[in-house]
Order: sequence, then structure tokens, then C-alpha cells
Amino acid sequence: MSTSYFNNPGMVTVPGEITPEVEMLLDRLQADFDPELVAVKPEAYSQPDACYDNVAEKVSRDGGKIHYGWAVWQSRHMVEAEHYAVWENENGDLLDVSPNKLEAASIMFISDDQPINNELMAIPNVRVNTSGSKLIDDFILLSETVDKLYGLSVYTDEEKLWLPESVLSTIDTLNQYRLGAEQLYMSGGKAEGPCYCGSKKTYKACHGRGIKLLSEDIVKRAKEVVRHELMNKQQA
Ligand SMILES: [Zn+2]
Repeated sequence: MSTSYFNNPGMVTVPGEITPEVEMLLDRLQADFDPELVAVKPEAYSQPDACYDNVAEKVSRDGGKIHYGWAVWQSRHMVEAEHYAVWENENGDLLDVSPNKLEAASIMFISDDQPINNELMAIPNVRVNTSGSKLIDDFILLSETVDKLYGLSVYTDEEKLWLPESVLSTIDTLNQYRLGAEQLYMSGGKAEGPCYCGSKKTYKACHGRGIKLLSEDIVKRAKEVVRHELMNKQQA
């Protein structure tokens, strides 16, 4: 539950079986459980992007328990695992009580029995590039950087997640970069070809330049900013 899944739900599917791409994702997750298809049946009170809350509400009304794992989404250039929760009834059957953007009747779900702390917002998505394109490597790196920045959010007194304005605006910029790289790939572009911004340079020499170092630096600086502004907030 981080940068939600894909930007454009129209090009995303639920894998109906264990494709080679899903195998790559299972390796990355070091999953102990096989993927299964779980039926989707949202409750009237279910909210989008709130699977943990939805299951908690279901448990409080109907018993059963929360069951953690990963939802799997696939596009033509990437597979992505989103940390997720479904409802487990007294017989051990699983049901997804949350609506999804694809309006899929079932999701691919991988159980995970790792213990969870209460910082659920901070569990980042896991993505695998299945395209071989450097543009998608960059898209994934930038997505992970956005996840890391969201992961720096802290709960304020009002029990709301808070990030400094400057970090939020950095996230906006990173989102533009990652969508630029993805759209360039989608329109048949290459890292060695013209950049999406219309400069005369190649992507590699323009918006794709030094992205890895830039990302590391951004996260480091954002940590400082959060710590500093938090101190100011507490003194105020
Ligand atoms: Zn550019």
C-alpha cells in the first residue's frame, strides 16, 4: 500500500496463472506460499486503498481474522506486488473485501506470515522489470524512491500522516520523472533515443542522467528535512 499500483489501471491485469513473470516476482519476494486466486467481494463500508481497515471492520462485524500477503498485478513491462490484507473466515477460506481499480472479480494473492508492525504505510511495493528496458529500470527506481519518501511519514498529534511540504513537492517531481520514463517506453522510445522533455539530448544524457545517485541523495536529504522540521514542530 504505497504508491498504489499502476498509474494507468487500463493496462494492468490480474495474472490468471503463474506466468514466468510471476515466477520472477516470487523469487524476489522469497515467497513461502504459492499464489492463489481470491474472490473479491467488497462490503458496503469498504473503501478504496484501505484493505487493512476494510478487513479490520469485517472482522469486528463478522469474526474471522485478518490474513496478510501480497496482491499481484501485471502489465506488459512489469509485475508488481502490493502488500495486502484479505479476510479469513472460521474455515480458513479467504475473501478480498476491498474494491480494486481494475474491478477484477478475483485477485492473485500470495500469503505472507512475516510479522507486521503498525507502520503499514511503510511497506513498499515490490516490482520486477519484465521489459529489459533501462527506461523501466528507471521507472522502478524512481517509484521505489517515492515509496521511501512516503515511508518517512510520521503520525502527528491529530493521528494524521505528515510529511514536510518540500518533501511532498519532491515526490511530485519524482512522479513526473517516473511517468516521463514510462510514457517514453510506452511510445516506443529508448534510453539511447531522444528524451521525453523535447531537449535535443538522449534520455540517458538528459532526464535519465545520474538517477541512481540523485535518488539516494534525495532520500538522504529528505530524512534530514523531516527530522529538522519535526523538531521545530515539537518546539512550536
Ligand atoms: Zn529530458
